[in-house]
Amino acid sequence: MNKEIDWKELGFSYIKADYSFVAYYKDGKWDDGNLVTDDKITISQASPCLHYGQQCFEGLKAYRHKNGEICMFRPDENSKRMNISCERILMPTIPEEFFIESCKRVVKANERFVPPYGSGATLYIRPYIIGVGDNIGVSPAKEYIFGIFVMPVGPYFKGGMSPVNFITTEYDRAAPMGTGSVKVGGNYAGSLMPHEEAVKKGYADCIYLDPATHTKIEEVGAANFFGITKDNVFVTPKSPSILQSITRKSLVYIAENYMGMKVEQRDVPIDSIDEFIEAGACGTAAVISPIGAVSHKGKKHVFYSETEVGEVTKKLYNTLTGIQTGDVEAPEGWIEKVNL
Ligand SMILES: *Cc1c(COP(=O)(O)O)cnc(C)c1O
Repeated sequence: MNKEIDWKELGFSYIKADYSFVAYYKDGKWDDGNLVTDDKITISQASPCLHYGQQCFEGLKAYRHKNGEICMFRPDENSKRMNISCERILMPTIPEEFFIESCKRVVKANERFVPPYGSGATLYIRPYIIGVGDNIGVSPAKEYIFGIFVMPVGPYFKGGMSPVNFITTEYDRAAPMGTGSVKVGGNYAGSLMPHEEAVKKGYADCIYLDPATHTKIEEVGAANFFGITKDNVFVTPKSPSILQSITRKSLVYIAENYMGMKVEQRDVPIDSIDEFIEAGACGTAAVISPIGAVSHKGKKHVFYSETEVGEVTKKLYNTLTGIQTGDVEAPEGWIEKVNL
C-alpha cells in the first residue's frame, strides 16, 4: 500500500503510476504489448489521431474489496464498446481477452496505487487506441497504439452525494447519424465550449437535446440521463446519438431486478420533465450525480430538491456502489477479479 497518498484528498487528476501498458499494431496485427515505466509515447507528427481524430478511449475502475481483493467492474462491457468505437472509425478491434488481460496487467503492476477498501477512492483505468504513422492523407492509419494507464481517483462526492443543477444548451454534441454513440475524442472537443458556457452561468454542466429536433433529452454533459416518475418507473432516453453508458445499463438492471421497478427506455421530451420526481446523471466517474434542477428556456424545473437526494436515487447509488465494492451480491459476470 502507498503511504504517501492521501486517498481522501484525491480528485480526478493525472498521477503518474509506476507502469503503463503499450501495444502496437503493425502489419495487420497486434503485438502482445509491454509494461513500460515511461509515461510518454513518441509518435509521428503526421499521425491521423492528431489531425483527424482517429482515436477512441474507455474508462473503467478497479475497486479493493473488504477481503483485500482487487476487482474490475464489467470490463467485458468496456471491451465490447471499445470495439464498436473502433469499427465506426475504421480502427482494428481488440480481442476481449486481450483487453481484459492487459487491464489486469497494468492494475497488478500498480497495486500500490489501488486505494484501500472503505476510502471511497478507486483506481481509474484509461484504455485508448490511437491511429499513428505518417499517412497525412485523410485515410485510416496503418499503425495503431493500444495504451492503458491507471491513476487513483478520489470519491467524487467528498461530503456525501449532493444534487447539482444543469441547463439545456442549443449546441449539439453529436449529429443524428454521427459518432455520438461511440467513445471518440472528437465528441469531447465539441463539448468543451457548451460545458464552459454552462459553468459560467452557474451550472454544473449542460444538457444536450436530440440533435434533429431539440425537443428530447439526450445526455447530461458526458453522462447519461435517468428520471424516476411518480409511479416509480425508471426512465432513460433511447436514441442513436447517445453513448451507451455501462453505468446506465447497470442501473437499469438494478432498478428491475434489485428494486422491482419498471424500466422504460424511450423518448424523454424536455417539455414533460415534470413527470419526474427524481433525476440523475450517470457515468463511471461519479456513478450517479443527482440532478437538483434543470433550466430550459428561462424556466427552472426542480425534481426532488436542490439540496437533498431522493430515496430512489440513494438506493440505486448504494446498490450499485455496493456491488462495485463487493458489499452487495453482484449479478453473474459483473466482477472481474485481478488475481495478485
Ligand atoms: C463515457 C460516457 C458516458 C458514461 O459511460 P459509462 O460507461 O457509464 O462510464 C456517458 N456519456 C458519454 C458521452 C460518455 O463518453
